[in-house]
Amino acid sequence: MNILVANLGSTSFKYRLFHFDGSLATEVAKGGYERVTDYGKAIEDCLALLSAGGFLKSVADLDAVGFKTVFGGSLTGCVEADESVEAALLATADLAPAHNPPYAAGIRQFREKLPSVRRVALFETAFYQWLPEYSHRYAVPESWYQAGVRRYGFHGASHKFAAERAAELLDRSEVAEITRSLYQSGPRVVAGAPLRIITCHLGGSSSVTAVCDGVAIGTSMGLSPQSGLPQNNRVGELDSAAIPFIQRKLGLTIQEIERQLTNESGLLALSGVGNDLRDIRAAALAGNRRAEVAIEAFVYAIRHWVGAFWFEMGGCDALVFTAGIGENSAFIRESVCAGLSRMGLIIDTRRNDVSPIETDLTCCDSATKVFIIPANEELVVARETRRLLLAKPAAA
Ligand code: AMP
Repeated sequence: MNILVANLGSTSFKYRLFHFDGSLATEVAKGGYERVTDYGKAIEDCLALLSAGGFLKSVADLDAVGFKTVFGGSLTGCVEADESVEAALLATADLAPAHNPPYAAGIRQFREKLPSVRRVALFETAFYQWLPEYSHRYAVPESWYQAGVRRYGFHGASHKFAAERAAELLDRSEVAEITRSLYQSGPRVVAGAPLRIITCHLGGSSSVTAVCDGVAIGTSMGLSPQSGLPQNNRVGELDSAAIPFIQRKLGLTIQEIERQLTNESGLLALSGVGNDLRDIRAAALAGNRRAEVAIEAFVYAIRHWVGAFWFEMGGCDALVFTAGIGENSAFIRESVCAGLSRMGLIIDTRRNDVSPIETDLTCCDSATKVFIIPANEELVVARETRRLLLAKPAAA
């Protein structure tokens, strides 16, 4: 079975092609285009390259295209990406404006270009379907909740992959299997001690997730990807009173406030030097105080959520770092883990100084394991797409 995973940004189109031999997936090709103005052309170029490289003889060799869709409101899980999904992405685009329109456009282009190839959407919110009510509700009027104001959670494919892999590394294959088959089988009761994992997806966009016995029970992300930790340009957590306050104080329109919270906030606003942690760290090392504060605030927010989930689960068997910052920044990992030896978490700073490969960073007497697990969200999308195809074969 061949599955193409399409990763669509507002001006980018990246892809990976997976070949499945039974359930064993091999990534056979990957590539992408920047500054895309026409997804249709990018799709044609991608297919031409895959045929020229001998990866696909024809479109008939392609079993499905999988999409890591971000937000569909109450529509979540792994679903056939039909026209109702395109409509749901557009209907909820105000809460994920950077992500939903490109996915709606890309899915439509694939439908028009390759009508015979199945399309599957795995929503980033899917991993959070089983959040307990107390952890997904805001204390807002019931009518707001009925209208959809709640925590949804994001980066689901990444946290799912990290939690599943951590369970394997901890020799808890039964829990890894629960995470792997969650969207088909749902949560299941685990014998023995609960497995408590906290996953930190730290990148251009960041979040922390608590995973107990293979199922997400808490997320730092909220109603939109605008919430939780300071993001690259996006605000993260903010007191709701700030919006009417600043509207009156600076005379801003709601649209302008929204634009500033989305494009001019987060690490960019705190540091004043940029939104890339490498630039911010370089400035901090050169003595720029705002850059230092940006890093301190980022680390504080990560520790805040890790601490909350640690307490909520009554402990933590593994803390996982993944994504651009989580995999590459030894400094952030060390800062997050600093001073926790009395809680049973001790990292080996020499192991922490590694390139971004899967690594156990812990000293042998650390009760909590700390892992770097390189993100592989596309593999999760490919696997879920395959599962859906097997569960619902195409009508003859
Ligand atoms: P992602 O969204 O997962 O692709 O992560 C992108 C972010 O990772 C960038 O914006 C940087 O802040 C961060 N990043 C990438 N490489 C490094 C590195 N070598 N050291 C520190 N941060 C990095």
